[in-house]
Amino acid sequence: MRIRVSLATAALLGLKNCNLKVKPTTLYFLLSGECKGNCLYCEQKKGRLARVKWPEFDFEDILEKIKNIETKRICILSIYNEGSAERIAEIAKKIPNKAISTCVNAIGKKEMEMLKKAGVERIGIGLDCCSKRVFNKWKKNVPSWEEYMKALKDAKEVFGKVSCHLIVGLGESDKEVIDLMKKLKKDGIKISLFAFSMGLETKVELERYRAIQIARYAIEEGIGKFYFEGEKLKEIKVPIIEKDAFMTAGCPNCNRPFYNERVSKIYNYPYELSEEEFIKAVKEAEKYARICITN
Ligand code: SF4
Repeated sequence: MRIRVSLATAALLGLKNCNLKVKPTTLYFLLSGECKGNCLYCEQKKGRLARVKWPEFDFEDILEKIKNIETKRICILSIYNEGSAERIAEIAKKIPNKAISTCVNAIGKKEMEMLKKAGVERIGIGLDCCSKRVFNKWKKNVPSWEEYMKALKDAKEVFGKVSCHLIVGLGESDKEVIDLMKKLKKDGIKISLFAFSMGLETKVELERYRAIQIARYAIEEGIGKFYFEGEKLKEIKVPIIEKDAFMTAGCPNCNRPFYNERVSKIYNYPYELSEEEFIKAVKEAEKYARICITN
């Protein structure tokens, strides 16, 4: 079986030579083959997923390296095509004793049960869009919004541990993203935020992304209050902000270094921020919305 390996993961496995500014704490793999979906923000057909290149290898040739490397997590990203869940299960069975996540589209409950049985520990659902309105604009030739909602519910029942991938910058309003994050929190689903990028450029304003990162953090911690003017976020009241707010969120130990951004302008920090970086990140958010730290 052929499999795509993120360039940084390939470097860690000794399959490629490249200089890693930050090491991935999860190893990332992507099913090879054609994705039948036609999500307008996705550049997989051009050989890239987000900003990342995914060289292809023979899975059996690299299996021993995967088994022997110490890593905190392995993530297998799916494509929208028949038999994808079966292929993920096949891969998972061959790498026992590792924490395995998979990121899938809206698959059925039976497929989820099969993945769990094969050893997948957590599941991420690639909803990506923050409202049905945005979903219908961007996500083509994939299951419907309602099917994704059902998949999130099924995933919670089957796995318990679920993340939902959301991309900021696809034309959603602040209220849409915050309302959806609140619903996910209520349903016990973790939020994995991505910044929209095309080509090598990140397309969402950093200041807005910072405010939404604080909102994500506050919602997950159950501590924030949000005030809007129309659909636009005006103020966040929060008793505390921690560095986590600006770090890559999702499954434990998933840091996706520079997945959506250049090293020189970080959106999701793949490491714990320095004090200086933290203060700068809060100030960036304050340029977009009032951040009120209060009890
Ligand atoms: S949060 Fe990270 S490890 Fe989890 S499914 Fe998404 S990309 Fe994979």
